[in-house]
Amino acid sequence: MQIMQTCTHCRTPYSLKEPEIVSALAQITANNFKYYTASCPNCGKPNKIPAAQLRRVAPKSTSASTAKAAPRPKAQRKAAATAANPKAGSKKPEKSTRSEAGD
Ligand SMILES: [Zn+2]
Repeated sequence: MQIMQTCTHCRTPYSLKEPEIVSALAQITANNFKYYTASCPNCGKPNKIPAAQLRRVAPKSTSASTAKAAPRPKAQRKAAATAANPKAGSKKPEKSTRSEAGD
């Protein structure tokens, strides 16, 4: 996974590799930037890379942790567990009514 970028100053093509993309996304998220500034390896001048482009190629684990999508499955499991508990609790009143009716 990488981003192909062409320097807007000297037209040198270069690529951003995964570690740089991950750190770039961290900077953008922390500072609420719309662009990541990648220095050209040839002329050293800054090139703006849109945040949307970085997010598009970011690994799923990074985008998931940024979007806070990972905790959701755990919450769904907890909701399912609590949803099953009322059913077990509803059986108790039935037993008490049965014992009263049995008398
Ligand atoms: Zn350049």
